[in-house]
Amino acid sequence: MKITEYIQQATKPLFSFEILPPLKGQSLNNLLEGIAPLMEFNPPFVDVTYHREEFIYKKHPNGLLEKVSTKKRPGTVGICAALMNRFHVDAVPHLLCGGFTKEETENALIDLNFIGVQNVLALRGDAPKMEGKFVPEVNGHNYACELVEQITRMNKGKYLHEETEIGFQTDFCVGVAGYPEKHFEAPSMKFDLKHLKAKVDAGAEYIVTQMFFDNSRFFEYVKKVREAGIDVPIIPGLKPITTLSQIVNLPSTFFLDFPDDLMDELEKCKDNAAVKEVGIPWAIQQSKELIAAGIPCIHYYTMSKADATYKIAKEVF
Ligand SMILES: Cc1cc2nc3c(=O)[nH]c(=O)nc-3n(C[C@H](O)[C@H](O)[C@H](O)COP(=O)(O)OP(=O)(O)OC[C@H]3O[C@@H](n4cnc5c(N)ncnc54)[C@H](O)[C@@H]3O)c2cc1C
Repeated sequence: MKITEYIQQATKPLFSFEILPPLKGQSLNNLLEGIAPLMEFNPPFVDVTYHREEFIYKKHPNGLLEKVSTKKRPGTVGICAALMNRFHVDAVPHLLCGGFTKEETENALIDLNFIGVQNVLALRGDAPKMEGKFVPEVNGHNYACELVEQITRMNKGKYLHEETEIGFQTDFCVGVAGYPEKHFEAPSMKFDLKHLKAKVDAGAEYIVTQMFFDNSRFFEYVKKVREAGIDVPIIPGLKPITTLSQIVNLPSTFFLDFPDDLMDELEKCKDNAAVKEVGIPWAIQQSKELIAAGIPCIHYYTMSKADATYKIAKEVF
């Protein structure tokens, strides 16, 4: 089923979450076993992130450096199939502009359609690590909006290089990313919202937000999104803080602020166990407030570790 249909038909707030493919060489079974307890809360859909190639430099005996392209977390499409088979949930693969030509995107969408995926989250992706700026592939997409357009064309049966013939019409429901604290490259929120609207005008049917820790930022964002003329569902993304390193890494990686009240508590923490004692109740309180405000669904960033999300869901859903 489509995410939009789940939302329309929901009689209570929906629980959903995101997982990462395991590192190359690790077992998928461990990941699936790990998230199995979360199925108690009936997630209608589970997102699977996509990780583009990274470049590493291999030193040869003659001293020359070879630039090698490697994917640390391959397997997004296979995991989607495994999730659907094992848990009978809808899997939502993330699809990137970065690293894909339009032909590769088309082929990926054909594969996804054939395995029964009905929803995709269309994203631009970031530059590979060690490369400062996002650069599309030759004959790839510059922005997520263009990727949404390609999916929308396939939903009308229009494939690349087949301009006159109408082929099989896919029926993907397309989600896109939104940023309550603004995307880091956007010079202003107004600019970011203009391009968010372009994604929706191109066919995106729902928005999932970047994580945030201050609900008032989310509520202000929803207001601005609506004022910009965007009326599709907005699914808030929440992440429980569970480690000392995340106190530094989350704000710098995702360009977001911790509210003062939260930071005051986190500053007192001496180890990961203490961080969890702050991070999990914080996410519970955020979730309860969002539900009280009538949001249709909450999406949890699990980083493939289910225990914190389980504790939250047990209190909230
Ligand atoms: C819910 C969620 C899931 C994610 N999952 C993944 C994942 O699985 N894998 C991964 O690698 N990354 C993922 N990301 C990160 C995402 O790829 C990055 O944040 C990326 O930098 C932007 O992607 P986007 O789709 O928002 O880009 P876009 O919507 O293309 O926007 C990128 C920037 O360009 C600006 N912009 C857009 N269109 C134009 C235009 N026409 N002209 C000028 N400026 C424009 C926007 O304002 C924004 O600043 C995820 C992010 C979120 C919020």
